[in-house]
Amino acid sequence: MPKAPTRTDAAFPLIDGGKARLVRGLGGAVYATPDPEPTGAWVGFFTRRGGVSEAPFDSLNVSTKVGDAPAAVEENLARIRASMDDAPTAWVKQVAGDTVLRVNESGFAGEADALITSREDLALVVAVADCVPVALVGGDTVGMIHSGWRGTLAGVSGKAVRRMSGDGSAEAGIPASEVTAYIGPCIRRCCYEVSEELAAEFARRFGAGVIDGRNLSLPEAIRLDLEQAGVERIVDLELCTGCRPGLFYSHRKQKPHTGRNLAAVVRRGA
Ligand SMILES: [Zn+2]
Repeated sequence: MPKAPTRTDAAFPLIDGGKARLVRGLGGAVYATPDPEPTGAWVGFFTRRGGVSEAPFDSLNVSTKVGDAPAAVEENLARIRASMDDAPTAWVKQVAGDTVLRVNESGFAGEADALITSREDLALVVAVADCVPVALVGGDTVGMIHSGWRGTLAGVSGKAVRRMSGDGSAEAGIPASEVTAYIGPCIRRCCYEVSEELAAEFARRFGAGVIDGRNLSLPEAIRLDLEQAGVERIVDLELCTGCRPGLFYSHRKQKPHTGRNLAAVVRRGA
């Protein structure tokens, strides 16, 4: 079995905030990874750098549904796989809901917005452009979540943690207190103005602290959801997709045409 990826051919300095490092993987794809590195897993939030797509999808777009050339997306995915030591990958059709799937095999897993696995060297991925990717690492299990405003209101992150911790069933689980959550690059309070109605709904659900006027903090709402589920270690990389157009796609800032960034977690062999 290949070891989870640790090799790089270049490392960039810490990016502002000091909680993430940029790394160029073997295939050339550039990703942000938590610093310090997670224990027992590899977490990569791929940027838009190091791919072959042309503007406005330049350059590491992973979606064929946004109008990009399929051959370019294929090459980008090959570069991303190389960064993950060619780990087999499991993915879902994201529907902005709260379904959590436990997977053991690579390939398409169904409609859902969160995946968990205990299998080593299986990459769990989601595609995002402003929505929040959240990686979970705990014991012998990892998870990857796609959480836009709908999923955040639905509590998809908390549900994924509860599923990891056994959900009260006989399924062996990891205590939530042993799970570390990594909140990846996403649109943040500075760049995310929403309708008054949506702001009010978030304030009712998560408290007034997640709102500033009509600006909404999805990461803060997700943090509260994770804490309610019992997670004590939450690492927010503090990277805003709206503020960093050179690093990440932002649907909000670059619409109608932009790409999708891939976020991935791989459980590492002992
Ligand atoms: Zn911003």
